[in-house]
Amino acid sequence: MSVSHSSKLNKVVRDQYMKLPQGDKVLVTYVWIDGSGEGVRCKTRTLNQEPKCIEDVPEWNFDGSSTEQAEGSNSDMFLIPIRMFRDPFCLDPNKLVLCEVLKYNRKHAETNLRHTCKKIMDMVQDNHPWFGMEQEYTLLGINGHPYGWPENGFPGPQGPYYCGVGSDKVYGRDIVESHYKACLYAGVKICGTNAEVMPSQWEFQVGPCEGIEMGDHLWMARFILHRVCEDFGVVATLDPKPMTGNWNGAGCHTNYSTEEMRQEGGLKFIESAIEKLSKRHDYHICVYDPRGGQDNSRRLTGYHETSNIFEFSAGVANRGASIRIPRQVGQDGFGYFEDRRPAANCDPYAVTEAIVRTTILNETGVETKDYVEKSRLERGVFKD
Ligand code: ADP
Ligand code: MN
Ligand code: MN
Ligand code: MN
Repeated sequence: MSVSHSSKLNKVVRDQYMKLPQGDKVLVTYVWIDGSGEGVRCKTRTLNQEPKCIEDVPEWNFDGSSTEQAEGSNSDMFLIPIRMFRDPFCLDPNKLVLCEVLKYNRKHAETNLRHTCKKIMDMVQDNHPWFGMEQEYTLLGINGHPYGWPENGFPGPQGPYYCGVGSDKVYGRDIVESHYKACLYAGVKICGTNAEVMPSQWEFQVGPCEGIEMGDHLWMARFILHRVCEDFGVVATLDPKPMTGNWNGAGCHTNYSTEEMRQEGGLKFIESAIEKLSKRHDYHICVYDPRGGQDNSRRLTGYHETSNIFEFSAGVANRGASIRIPRQVGQDGFGYFEDRRPAANCDPYAVTEAIVRTTILNETGVETKDYVEKSRLERGVFKD
């Protein structure tokens, strides 16, 4: 069996309860990133009145020892509400609230990368950095096998699946459309979707978002995806290379522009940003997945529409490059560019922060985090 038990519970019965009036009370679901830096967690509480803005949502806490986030015997962690969305599952007036995580001493948790991202974005507000991220993901049955693939084998080779239509081309469109509508209802800035090159792999895009908004909206879109998948009994994985062999991996292409790039003559600012990125390839690879480049090394092979992890490259309309300038942008002479390197499981706070550090703050140094150093050594690219 490839779909979960809970997805088979009687949804008509559920509806009967969901229709019950809830008085003045409001369900607020707090959502946060767990200690893996990839997983999301949530829990729900009742508020006596509808929060009208994020300041109306009180801080809360959780047991960090159960989310790989505790430090010693101090397992209480704080949840700091930072952005509120409408709840597409329990409907208005209920809310989904994205939170930052602080430790018992109110210092940010290890996997709270929003904390520094926000500081950096505040420094560069006047440049109005815009981002649009393309989240690729793969649907799996609860048996861990791609959803819709033959139990003991493989579908035909890639070719007919990208943007495909028809039962033999795409698997799980119900999920994709439900997720899309749920994001719109919630207020997530989702801007598109398409079936991907590997069957049962899909993509949605979020953007354009300015500054810190990018990470906030993408994380909530991911939460909604996992939650929608629960209802259908399948699992969405963000693994950057779920199937080895001749199957495309999953990335999170990051489109980026500043105000000056978006204006006439902006191409020269795009080119200058790419020049800066070319000098800091290693640093970017290190922050483009949660394990300092190790996850992405399975994906960035130079094949299957990717660039090689060890080389920086850029080009107009080149989907085999690290950085692509869309053809339209090349023609117009202004617009944005696409960094194709981030892995599907990247933390958008880390990615957007790194891009801003390199292209606006002109940083040239390298990350010093332990996992980054370790992974650089393991990948044999420790050359600074
Ligand atoms: P691709 O051709 O690479 O598949 P998509 O259509 O999937 O491109 O995604 C394009 C992304 O670019 C969207 O997320 C969109 O929000 C984003 N985008 C569009 N214009 C800009 C801009 N000026 N600055 C930053 N991002 C942008
Ligand atoms: Mn795309
Ligand atoms: Mn894609
Ligand atoms: Mn793309």
